[in-house]
Amino acid sequence: MARVTRFAPSPTGPLHLGHAFAALTAAARGDRFLLRIEDIDTARARSDYETAIYDDLSWLGLHWEAPVLRQSERLNLYRQTVDSLEKSGLTYHCTCTRGDIRAALSAPQEGAPVIGPDGPVYPGTCRHAGHRDGAIRLDMAKAMARAGDVTFTDTGRQPGLHRRDAEQMVAEIGDIVLARRDIGTSYHIAVVTDDAAQGITEITRGEDLFEATFIHALLIRLLGLPQPLWHHHRLIRDDSGKRLAKRDDARALAKYREDGATPGDIRRMLGMSLPGD
Ligand code: GLU
Ligand code: ZN
Repeated sequence: MARVTRFAPSPTGPLHLGHAFAALTAAARGDRFLLRIEDIDTARARSDYETAIYDDLSWLGLHWEAPVLRQSERLNLYRQTVDSLEKSGLTYHCTCTRGDIRAALSAPQEGAPVIGPDGPVYPGTCRHAGHRDGAIRLDMAKAMARAGDVTFTDTGRQPGLHRRDAEQMVAEIGDIVLARRDIGTSYHIAVVTDDAAQGITEITRGEDLFEATFIHALLIRLLGLPQPLWHHHRLIRDDSGKRLAKRDDARALAKYREDGATPGDIRRMLGMSLPGD
């Protein structure tokens, strides 16, 4: 079976070495390599960053198949994904603001808030409130009763089968938001919808998203989508160990290029072998 991989950058800033590593890793692992622009965060996504992504990737020597998927054009499809989970009775509406959630979590009986891959674990305030509008959350306990244990296979840094049971998913992740009030979707819904639509067989991405993969594997199961493999790769850090993506002054790939670096120099800086090495 052809291995299909993808690179899925958000056009919210210039690509830096960490992105180059993710893109080169994905391309090297696929017989077919696809590109997806994750621009649902319309407040932060910019078209000039998107153009720069194509320039930088071409400069690195990468080729991807047409068409490039742009998430901002697919909001209706994400709505359908959320609808099908709503129809299965696994969701509820939530009208809490961030402040409401913070206040509920700081109540003395709550103990220390657990921070999951989707932020603080939601205290469940609206679970039985019967609201008819607001954000849409997944009722994690119900979802797990339907799906059984969540499993996925990683071919990257933590190779093998990973598993979480209902108790862990409820305590460590909780009732995640499937559809934000403003955009009607969430990263999780968009990513599982698109990886299935693009026929991705191995999802290659940074290990910072490892815990979020339990959410995606669960959604894939609930939606009856094909289960891919995941390849979580190392993150590129600076000399002090800080993740480049989190550093405001992380040097853009375009800057290295202007300074005369070659794509081969970039691969060497990333500790990647050159084609033909
Ligand atoms: N858009 C995400 C990012 O820029 C990547 C998501 C993914 O690979 O699943 O970090
Ligand atoms: Zn709520």
